[in-house]
Amino acid sequence: MDTSDWKWQLQNRITDLPTVQSRLVLTPEEIASFPKALNNFSFSVTPYYFGLIDPKNPNCPIRKQVIPRAGELVALPNEVEDPLAEERFMPVKGVTHRYPDRAIWYISHVCAVYCRFCTRKRKVSDPEETPNKAEWEKALTYFQNTPSIKEVILSGGDPLTLSDNQIHYLLSELKKIPHINHIRIHSRYLVTLPMRITDDLCKIFSEFFPLYLVTHFNHPKEITTEVAEATKRLATKGFVSVLNQSVLLRGINDDPKILSELNYKLISIGIKPYYLHQCDEVFGSSDFVVPIEEGIRIYQALRGFHSGITIPHYVKDLTGGGGKVLLTPNYFQKKENGSYHFQNYKGDQYEVGH
Ligand SMILES: *Cc1c(COP(=O)(O)O)cnc(C)c1O
Ligand code: SF4
Repeated sequence: MDTSDWKWQLQNRITDLPTVQSRLVLTPEEIASFPKALNNFSFSVTPYYFGLIDPKNPNCPIRKQVIPRAGELVALPNEVEDPLAEERFMPVKGVTHRYPDRAIWYISHVCAVYCRFCTRKRKVSDPEETPNKAEWEKALTYFQNTPSIKEVILSGGDPLTLSDNQIHYLLSELKKIPHINHIRIHSRYLVTLPMRITDDLCKIFSEFFPLYLVTHFNHPKEITTEVAEATKRLATKGFVSVLNQSVLLRGINDDPKILSELNYKLISIGIKPYYLHQCDEVFGSSDFVVPIEEGIRIYQALRGFHSGITIPHYVKDLTGGGGKVLLTPNYFQKKENGSYHFQNYKGDQYEVGH
């Protein structure tokens, strides 16, 4: 047993209720919700990430991200299967091309840990979504034939579920396309399976400099020694720039103190906070959603009070496929005399020309 081996971690994932109950005392709500939730979305947690759960605290922020609760069984009228209409903007299977200059490519349907608020739970973990070689070739041909695409985002599921050889193959095929300016990878394995960031993988990444990896930390408890070491390997051996997107999650990180602690910790290990997402209106997300007005109040307590490089953009990805919009506090107004009225981060009022 080598717990620092990512394949061991994947093979030994916790996937059933009895194993969970052998390690945690679940609430009656969690026990009742578990089998029903699994009808819609798989359950899986790596031993590493499970080890971060505080067994004594039913409100543990790690536990709430992975153990199903009753809200997951309810579909509110605004909640849908595919909130970002990713399947509608799909020129070839496995590619969402919504914005003119970049496309997302789902190269794996598997994640090591299934986040209960996942916006893609309609397809993530579904074996029918396994991409095959012929589909990969079709996607590559689409990228080759679409010169407006400057960036390809490798996503999933988790793209780092693939073998080193597969990752090497896809990166080298993309690198050959002259109009692709840079490649981005979206992966949560730095959080849920940091041992996936091996020296061998970093060596592959180093061949494709510059790569941008956007990961997904939601709470300061997720930043462990293993994570700090894996991030350092990515940066110093893979020459990868690492950014983070969080989702604003009720009862998990809906507090400016927690968010600023998270963002300072990220900066301290070499990760730049990029986005704070309003939770998508995916079916079963009601336990997680923080209302936008409250989100703005929380966000307002970050800007100015904390280092600017620790502060992500707060965004909502519009339900229906409209794309991302900034959710910003209203800090200024234009006056009739042509000057602007500003409010600074402390609430002080200023009137200046422009
Ligand atoms: C979020 C998203 C992207 C990436 O957007 P950025 O603002 O560049 O991070 C690209 N395509 C789709 C479909 C997306 O939802
Ligand atoms: S890692 Fe991302 S894609 Fe995978 S379950 Fe979590 S939110 Fe969904």
